Amino acid sequence: MVGVTMSSAANDTQELMPALKQVEKNCGELPVVVIADNGYATRQNVEQTSAQEIELIAPWKADSSREAGACARNGIDEEFVPSKFALQRGGKKLLCPAGKMLVVIGQKTHHGVRKNVFEAKERECGACPWVKKCCGRKGGPRRIERVVESPAMKKYLARMKRPEVKQLYRQRSRIAEFPHMWAKAAKKWRRFSVRGMAKAGMEALWVMLAYNVTQWIRLGRPGRCQEFCVNSPAVLMFRADYTGCTRAEDKALRRRNLSAGSAAGIRRDRAQLVPASCESWR
Ligand code: SF4
Repeated sequence: MVGVTMSSAANDTQELMPALKQVEKNCGELPVVVIADNGYATRQNVEQTSAQEIELIAPWKADSSREAGACARNGIDEEFVPSKFALQRGGKKLLCPAGKMLVVIGQKTHHGVRKNVFEAKERECGACPWVKKCCGRKGGPRRIERVVESPAMKKYLARMKRPEVKQLYRQRSRIAEFPHMWAKAAKKWRRFSVRGMAKAGMEALWVMLAYNVTQWIRLGRPGRCQEFCVNSPAVLMFRADYTGCTRAEDKALRRRNLSAGSAAGIRRDRAQLVPASCESWR
């Protein structure tokens, strides 16, 4: 764990760049590649990471998942949402579901994002049997806005299609979410015991410091395999045995882990905590 930040934001979109700053402060340099979940995949984050020569790997939410709500509010049928209109001729025209062409009539910038505005011909929409479903409450002719992607966005979208990048992303949850699981499930840290950002930040820092110490012990123990699966019954037993269980719930956890370890044929002495083959625990 190389950094802990506190925020009261409802979502993660604005949290990536402050987190990277903290990584740079704590580690002395910025990462070359950042793997994050789709909550961090925004155009702004892609631009900012690209400007710092960082490769962002985070799954992009398809536009179709963002447009459904807005179209439903405007009375547009799901068969005629903007993603059903296909780009033609190098992005200069759009082909509608009825086979008519929409052409660019101008550009607009919204929240710093440049968009092309396409419009259908009035007489074609007027004669179209699906005009109500397609144009909704506003009426025709149909107008569609399409983002003009920047070079950084194009590079990012192409990167996210590569099989090796998808493969790399699959490793994210087991690495990045494990410390959360450790804190919440193993250490029962489910809520802050203090109030205020500063004090809560200190509490979070202490928890993650404890996590780092357990990892330091785990990796630094002579003879321990560094690939050792941290979820194995052996490690759970190690935690239960040697982390000083005192409270009733810790004792119950210890009993559970010991019986899980025994069921898996692990003896309680330390020598048995390193299994012959790590593969058997995966
Ligand atoms: S209303 Fe216009 S844009 Fe929509 S499907 Fe019909 S012709 Fe195409």
